[in-house]
Order: sequence, then C-alpha cells, then structure tokens
Amino acid sequence: MSSKVSVRFSGLKKLEERLNQAELAGKRRHLKVFETLDGVNLRLNNGKMLLDFSGNDYLGFSRHSALLQAATETTQKFGTSTTSSRLIRGTFELQEQLEQTLCRFLNAPSALVYNTGYQANVGVLSALIQRHDAVFSDRLNHASLIDGIQLSGAKATRYAHNDMLALENMLKASTAETKWIVSETVFSMDGDCVDLKTLFALSQKYNAWLILDEAHAVGVFGQRSRSGFWETLELPDWPENVIVIGTFSKALGSYGAYVAGHQAVRELLINQSRSFIYSTGLPPACIAANQAALELLMSDASHTQKLWENIHHAESCLGLALTSAIVPVVVGGNDKTMALSQALWHAGFFVQGIRPPTVPEGSSRLRITLSALHERSQIEALAHFFKHTRACHSLTSS
Ligand SMILES: *Cc1c(COP(=O)(O)O)cnc(C)c1O
Repeated sequence: MSSKVSVRFSGLKKLEERLNQAELAGKRRHLKVFETLDGVNLRLNNGKMLLDFSGNDYLGFSRHSALLQAATETTQKFGTSTTSSRLIRGTFELQEQLEQTLCRFLNAPSALVYNTGYQANVGVLSALIQRHDAVFSDRLNHASLIDGIQLSGAKATRYAHNDMLALENMLKASTAETKWIVSETVFSMDGDCVDLKTLFALSQKYNAWLILDEAHAVGVFGQRSRSGFWETLELPDWPENVIVIGTFSKALGSYGAYVAGHQAVRELLINQSRSFIYSTGLPPACIAANQAALELLMSDASHTQKLWENIHHAESCLGLALTSAIVPVVVGGNDKTMALSQALWHAGFFVQGIRPPTVPEGSSRLRITLSALHERSQIEALAHFFKHTRACHSLTSS
C-alpha cells in the first residue's frame, strides 16, 4: 500500500474559512483564560485583577463554606464519579435524597435531576413533545430550549417576546390535540420577567402544557423558599400541566439541573429522555453541593436579600429600572459592543459582550450581572465608568 496521499485533505482549510467569515462579521469568539476566581474577583495569569460582572453566581454560593464542605466530605466518602448512568448503577441514596429535597423546595409532587440545564432542556422537550404536537415558544428562548423542540420533530411557532396577545391568538387558532407553551421565566440576556399570571392562565384556558425554564430565577425569586418565579404565583397545589426546569449551575453555585412536575412526567423522562438515559450521573461532589445549596437557600433568606439590595443600588446608580440580577446594555453593533467590553476590561471590570446568535442580529449588548457578593462601592465604580465614558453615556441615556 502506498502511503502517498493523492488528494489533499481540505477539511481544516474549510473550517478556517468559516472562522474567517465569523471574524469578518465581528462574531468570532475566543475563550478567556483566568487564573483564579475568588468570589467576584477574577485574576489573570499576569496578576491583573478584574471585578467580575459577568458570572451567574448570583448569591456567591460557589464559594460558600457549606457547599465546599459538603462537596469535599462527600468526595472523600463516595469518590469522584458515579461511573455509570442513573439507570444502570448510578442512582445512589444521595440522588434520591436530593430529589426529595427538590420536592420540598419547589412544593412539587416529583422531581428528577439532570446533569446540566442544557441536557435537561434538550432531554425533556425532545422526550415529552411529539412530532404532531403544536409548540409555542417565546422568540427569545434559550438555545437549549430551541434545540430540544427541534429534536422532538414538532413544528415550533415562535411568538414575539412576552407577547401574550399573540400567544393567545396562536393557541386559539391551533387545532392540534396536544399543545405546549415554552418560556423562560427570567430571560437570560434581557433580565426581564415573563408575564407569568397571564401565561399560566392561557395554558389552563387552552388546555396546553406549560414548560418554564427558571435558570435565572431560582434563588432570586420566591418568599417561601426562593425557588424561583413560579413560586410567586403561590398556588396551593401543583397544576397537572406545569413542568418547571431549573439549573444548579447559576445561583445555586454548583452543577446540574432539575425538572419538577407530576409523577408521570418523571417516569416518562426516566424511560424515554435520551440525555438522562445515556449519560453518567452527577459526581457525588455535585450532588452533595446541590443538596447543601437547597438547604442553605431554604433556611436563610439573607443571600437573596443582599442580592436585591445590590439590584436596587444598581438601579439608582445606573438610572435604570431592573427586574432581576441581569442588566442588559444594548449597544447594537458587534464591534462596538466588543470595544466597550474591552474598555471595561482595561478599567478593571469584566463585562462580557454578547453577540448573535445568542441575541438577535443588531442587538449586541453588554450583559452585566449582579451578585450578592458585590460591595456597594464596586457597583458605584461600575456606574462611574458608564457615566464618564462618552460612548457609554450616549447609550445608557438613550
Ligand atoms: C444557562 C441556561 C441554561 C443551561 O443551564 P446549564 O446548567 O448551564 O447547562 C438553560 N436555560 C437557560 C435560560 C440558561 O440561561
């Protein structure tokens, strides 16, 4: 056999062309490498420190002693991995206990833990929704929700962001036997909240399933246990048509995700959700940290209160009305957004620029996130930057 290659492999060159196209469109992305992260302080390997306004660690739980202790002790006791999917031999008492705690946390009849929010959304939507069903999805829904719907094979109709009138017209016109409404509760790139009362009422009126993604609401909303925006409806019983999905990876400071709903939902997912079935269960350290995060959140409101104090402080410093811990500063162009992110970087702030396809074309933005760990003076310093940078001044005052 000759080792001579007659035709040159052109695959890599084609990939490079695609990267160049992204570069030209101002959409090329690069990983930023940090040496350490301590609370809201990011250290670069040249020693430079940045104040983090881009994380989702809204309550500072990722460094909380209760989570650290639970994760390390459990690792010592149970090892670093479950080494198998939940259905084979990967379901331990710790997992079951976490799911029972989730039921208490959410006041839900049953709950199932997934490895990530992405896997939960893809696995839940693709398993539950069937090809001939009708799906109504908010135009700004997260990529993982969109991917899950796509995998189901059903046709999704997107309604204008939070437009309940448009949604009702679509529901009214639909002749499908099974209907699904899919929405985030706090939108990840805009920070606004869904009109939950109306959304829920519509789901009941039109006999539709309602799937809510609480990724940015858990830990931030709710009086009883701070379990998310769904809790604010204060319903005594869990409605049959409602499924709530949340992640442990943001305010809960750990890793993993959950789905809550009625028992039949959980059983169906265990039997047919591919991202649940064909993936190794969470490592013991994560399960234990998740458990600790829920217990902490249920017993102590002070972290959430501190976060809200910071949100209100940011409102007054920045002169903006805020509804969550996410502050979008919409710039428009890709290059301008990244230039502002760079200017913030030089001034000592890490604020990531967000570009399409994460946000719609022409709406690139700086996404500022607030944490309970920020000090008032740090928020004031960030606001000072915006006030005294001309480019920023014109955009925040517009
Ligand atoms: C972050 C996010 C997810 C994914 O959660 P992970 O646990 O990080 O995979 C899902 N939905 C929304 C709205 C998110 O913001």
